[in-house]
Amino acid sequence: MGFINLQVPLSEIKGIPPRFAKSLGKLKVFTIKDLLWHFPSRYEDFSEVVSIANLEPGQQVTVQGIVEDIKMRRSFRRRLVVTEALIRDDSGTIKAVWFNQPYLVNTLRPGRSANFSGKVSVGDNEIYLSHPAYELSSGMKSEMNHTGRLVPVYPETRGLTSRGIRFLVQPILKSIGDIPEWIPEETLESEGLPEINDALREIHFPESEDAALAAKKRFSFEDLFLLQVMNIGHKLKLAKEKAPPIEVEVNDLKKITDALPFKLTPSQKKSLWEIVQDIGKATPMNRLLQGDVGSGKTVVAAVAALFAANNGLQSAFMAPTEILARQHFQTLKKIFAGLPLKKQPEIGLLVSKEAKIFYENDLESSISKEELKKKIELGTLKVIVGTHALIQKDFVFKDLGLVIVDEQHRFGVRQRAELVHGRKILPHLLSMSATPIPRTLMLTIFGDLDISIITELPVGRKPILTKIVAPANRGKAYQFIREQIKKGRQAFVICPRIDPAEEKETEGAPRSVYQKLALWEVKSVKEEYEKLSKEIFPDLRVGMLHGQLKSKEKAKTMDDFKNKKIDILVSTSVIEVGVDIPNATIMMIEGADRFGLAQLYQFRGRVGRGEHQSFCFLFTDSDSKTVGDRLKAIIEAKNGFELAEKDLKLRGPGEFIGQKQTGLPDNAMSALQNFELIKSSREAAVKILEKDKDLKNHPLLAEKLAEFEKNIHLE
Ligand code: ADP
Ligand code: MG
Repeated sequence: MGFINLQVPLSEIKGIPPRFAKSLGKLKVFTIKDLLWHFPSRYEDFSEVVSIANLEPGQQVTVQGIVEDIKMRRSFRRRLVVTEALIRDDSGTIKAVWFNQPYLVNTLRPGRSANFSGKVSVGDNEIYLSHPAYELSSGMKSEMNHTGRLVPVYPETRGLTSRGIRFLVQPILKSIGDIPEWIPEETLESEGLPEINDALREIHFPESEDAALAAKKRFSFEDLFLLQVMNIGHKLKLAKEKAPPIEVEVNDLKKITDALPFKLTPSQKKSLWEIVQDIGKATPMNRLLQGDVGSGKTVVAAVAALFAANNGLQSAFMAPTEILARQHFQTLKKIFAGLPLKKQPEIGLLVSKEAKIFYENDLESSISKEELKKKIELGTLKVIVGTHALIQKDFVFKDLGLVIVDEQHRFGVRQRAELVHGRKILPHLLSMSATPIPRTLMLTIFGDLDISIITELPVGRKPILTKIVAPANRGKAYQFIREQIKKGRQAFVICPRIDPAEEKETEGAPRSVYQKLALWEVKSVKEEYEKLSKEIFPDLRVGMLHGQLKSKEKAKTMDDFKNKKIDILVSTSVIEVGVDIPNATIMMIEGADRFGLAQLYQFRGRVGRGEHQSFCFLFTDSDSKTVGDRLKAIIEAKNGFELAEKDLKLRGPGEFIGQKQTGLPDNAMSALQNFELIKSSREAAVKILEKDKDLKNHPLLAEKLAEFEKNIHLE
């Protein structure tokens, strides 16, 4: 038997009509492999073969018989072509009826034997088969694709039905020969999974429901297993790399933490301790510091950076936005200045074109990017805060000991790799995230990271009162804001867009009046700023922040807000993460339905960071139930963890991991919610890697893994 390469495009296969190829393209099926991996979404159970005399109404069955008669008529009343056949077996006859399938009379000619599968319906005084699937019989059960068995039902598209897909899959399944198995035999055995060829046959044309389930399980297991082998493999590899140890004396640690302006919470202490122990080793730390918004991650990172500096090592502290980088620069400055240190470390800031430095002698000044670069290369500057601007080919750190990455999930792993420029010694990595990661994802996507969790908020924080505000109560909300501001507090107002909706038609189909209205209702920062500063709060100081502003303007506005020179800050999502203004107590979100749950949660986390009671007002014009439910989830969730689990359920892991395509197959995406399978895939991966770290004895698995890693990009 000749083998067909799985990568062969279907267009090169004779016998597949071009119109099929087009429909398959719509299903993203291009190659033989794509087709074989286009799995059924369910099965129709036509396995019960019943003799005609024993048929009962409502049954789902297969009848094996001979076509005794077939005719076609037009039903003028209903404008239908009706085809009726009389089918006979040894026990009796039954009528079968189809609508609008005139070609049947050419296929199901009298005298032919065939299988008919479908539901037994009741007509006027008689039972009949309504719209049965049919298949001319060759007599062998295993030859049946559409009747007399569990029949696969596929995701379909216009012009290509499940029946059509079955026609394509069956011959290919037969002619592919043996696909090499890449899952180690011991794994298949211990997990009770079918071998790949059996699994493919059984997922398309199962012998039984159990066989179909086992096949499905195997394919779900595949991707989880690869993820685990990848992550655990990374972890083992990293354990062999070298890093500069950052030594920390327990007494020094105590002296420093005691001198902080506040007492660390127990889990801040525990996390710091875990970090200190990791960075003391000569192998690179790979740690995620997770803590709810406002739980105080920055200070933990700051202490780690301080000890790196004390050890003569540099730290790169990376933030996703300029605003946040500037804030961290200020925060570190303040924290270090308050500590009893023999020598204050200098702190540098680099955002896009601008560079700044804070010298030991209490002096902050702007310096050129070139000068900053030189200090980084000479190693005299120990603590450098910045945005992505820090990752540049020509920026080479002399003694990079620690990379801190704020609010970017997994991104840190790649950033570290880019920062070391191929050098042999790796810095330690501390990644920080306020997005609580559900346990299932923790064990898979993030499986190569060690975790420290800050479980409590600093004492004295009051829960944020969150309300969905109906349009009619807008005036009351404004009144409330005014009262708060009179008491000395500040407010954020978030809008989904910067500019007002344009009036001119966009390209493509003209929008309907309703679509236009929907668009105009979405509040823009510029309009709201005008409205609030001129009409609603002409007596208060209103500021505006969005991505179109120059970075100097943004910095000034943030400074003014921090220094209480602005009462109300109207902003886009640029302040979504990290921003820390403890005196702000009101977060008002316009068009709340436009944002994801995690995003809303981050917005709300901008308030409730100080001693004062804080409030979050969610505005929406939508009265849809789904929107209502989602917004309620924010109000009801006790903490970020609960919300993350809910988000995962509501929107699936794809949304959770990031808007960007992860490259993970759909199958893997749904497997990411299967806790049992995640656990067993992890155990299986550990077992293999323990014995064969480099997968030398598992070349097919190694090959598969390389392909998998190439196709996915997790962040
Ligand atoms: P996040 O974890 O969201 O990054 P931050 O590090 O920005 O939180 O801290 C939030 C606020 O809490 C900051 O103003 C910080 O000074 C303050 N803070 C941090 N730790 C404590 C603590 N143990 N006690 C009181 N306030 C704290
Ligand atoms: Mg933060």
